[in-house]
Amino acid sequence: MTQPAALAVTAKLAWVTLDGVAQLVSRPRIRFDRESGQILSISLASEGDSATPEGELLHDLGHALLLPGMVNAHSHAFQRAIRGATHTLGPHSPSSFWSWRSAMYEVANTLDPEGVYAQTRACFAEMLTRGITCVGEFHYLHHAPDGTRYADPNELSRQVIRAADDVGLRLCLLEVYYARSGAQAKGPLPEQRRFCDGSTDAYLARVDELRALASPMLSVGVAPHSVRAVAADELARLAAHANAHGLPIHAHVSEQPLENQQCQAEHGRTPLQVFADAGCLAGPRAFTAVHAIHVTASDLELLRNQQVCACPTTEADLGDGIVPAAAWREHGATISLGSDSNAVIDLVQEARLLEMHERLRQQARLCLRDDQGRVAPVLLAAATTGGAQALGRPELGRLAVGSPFDALAIDLDHPTLRGVDGQLALDAVFLAGTAEPISQVWVAGRRRR
Ligand SMILES: [Zn+2]
Repeated sequence: MTQPAALAVTAKLAWVTLDGVAQLVSRPRIRFDRESGQILSISLASEGDSATPEGELLHDLGHALLLPGMVNAHSHAFQRAIRGATHTLGPHSPSSFWSWRSAMYEVANTLDPEGVYAQTRACFAEMLTRGITCVGEFHYLHHAPDGTRYADPNELSRQVIRAADDVGLRLCLLEVYYARSGAQAKGPLPEQRRFCDGSTDAYLARVDELRALASPMLSVGVAPHSVRAVAADELARLAAHANAHGLPIHAHVSEQPLENQQCQAEHGRTPLQVFADAGCLAGPRAFTAVHAIHVTASDLELLRNQQVCACPTTEADLGDGIVPAAAWREHGATISLGSDSNAVIDLVQEARLLEMHERLRQQARLCLRDDQGRVAPVLLAAATTGGAQALGRPELGRLAVGSPFDALAIDLDHPTLRGVDGQLALDAVFLAGTAEPISQVWVAGRRRR
């Protein structure tokens, strides 16, 4: 007997995009091609209707809320290795972002290719269980700890690709360019040597090789690490290459006040202005400013129709500060979310903290709301379509005809949701919950959890 070509999924509730409008519907029937995973149609079936057209298998998820798979726009997978390890005062006192960075570098320099693979695989597997179906991996471990190239200069990038492939996670490999330890430095610190290619030519040759591997499961972006680590002329070179090939550009921006002070001393401008002047905001894809915390009024004007990636659990962990998400939205930037250091892997918590940090700052409620005054859809959008746009994959992060069936099911019988009206389940999860009740995860039409 041959397998039916299409599979249809239904559930009590789903957040789907119909006629371009994202909305909560009851008992939808989402049909997708079993081979490609592409959604063929979305129709609203009546309760108890189990008849299926010939050549279609119906899978009923029961008492569940079906949501688009979440898109994690910023991760450093290997940093999961120091989860829980930097919370006791040690030789670096007072404890700060910079002393945390020293601890992180120590681990970064112990990993061989198999170690990079093992750490990344564990991290990506955890992401999948948490409903993340696509990750932007901001990858900067490129060479051996002393800076020597491996026989294949893309050895470690290939280990990241292998890890994503093995667990079935979509990957946007954000290849990092790193050249120096700071504004006045000629090169890297010894512990930063493995991040560095030595020239933009060598780096772009690696990027081009990786671009040739692109598939629906793998895309590539250009990631100048920060204004600390990249000189202005190099930035312009990277921007020109990314823009010519339609690649997304991501960079750490204004995470720490010291970075701003050093940038002002070197350039007489803010980091964001330096990225803008280098052409990073002029490409066909949006520029993604990761963190963008310590920004000026003129910075806020720069990112209209561009992206800000907030990573609230990491920003809280490192004492970075609060992303001014409401101000960014008012100025026309789209917000995405990242698990960044992966100390916590839970985009539901990232989304909730985005709103809660604004409440603490403004001493007000419902800070990030849509035209109807609702907060939960804004937070869901940050965790889904916002990330998809940041990674240059606008077809992801939505359950819509033509998009792949990347989805997660929330178990409405989970103890944290028992007694919650189904119509309020999205609010209960995103404003009072975690990723805990996620019970099933699908990528490209294949069940992965
Ligand atoms: Zn980062």
